[in-house]
Amino acid sequence: MKEIEAKTQVAELVFFGGPMDSGKSTLALQMAHTQSAHGRKGRLFTSQDRAGQAHITSRIGLERDAIEVGLDFSFRRYVFTELEAGRRIDFLICDEAQFYQPEQIDDLARLVDELNIDVFCFGIMSDFRSLIFPGSKRLVELSDRVEPLPVQPLCWCGRKGTHNARVINGAMITEGEQVLVGDTGDGTDSAPDEVHYEVLCRIHHRAHQPKGWMGATLSPLTLFEES
Ligand SMILES: [Zn+2]
Repeated sequence: MKEIEAKTQVAELVFFGGPMDSGKSTLALQMAHTQSAHGRKGRLFTSQDRAGQAHITSRIGLERDAIEVGLDFSFRRYVFTELEAGRRIDFLICDEAQFYQPEQIDDLARLVDELNIDVFCFGIMSDFRSLIFPGSKRLVELSDRVEPLPVQPLCWCGRKGTHNARVINGAMITEGEQVLVGDTGDGTDSAPDEVHYEVLCRIHHRAHQPKGWMGATLSPLTLFEES
């Protein structure tokens, strides 16, 4: 009876989204482990992972091979090819889903509905300009459930970190490509630009004040603390 219930359970498209440093890839790998219980078979996907290859790597050192989702990747073609070859698929783990094309998210939703495959997507919600990524937008529109990521990062001031900032040579910038490939400058300079990302609260994102911003010692946070 229990087995029948499990088989007739309706599959879901679930999106775990949030800012950076929220335990996204760690949760993706944990979910892959949990879902693999009782013989369930899944596949792992990622896009532009920080390791530069098709791996899901988490900041606490976990790592699994994954399938790269490039611009032309078709989830439907992949899944149908696998099923036709007699290989079983019960669930998909999709990391870095913010980078997927909206059409690829549509494909994932169809796999949930038509083949009853569970799809768990993990992604950063918005970019360094605080604009939602196209892949994340489509996931918010289509998912059965949108869940917060488990770890709540903090801004340097101690408030909830909700916004991603791109910081170049210590200054927060709000213009440029949505996705920056590589994290140094053009290489022609003897001191290439140092680029990194930081999670800030909304106040410090709006004020363009990352950790150690120039002028921090001149204008402490009293303005905000007193209000
Ligand atoms: Zn702050």
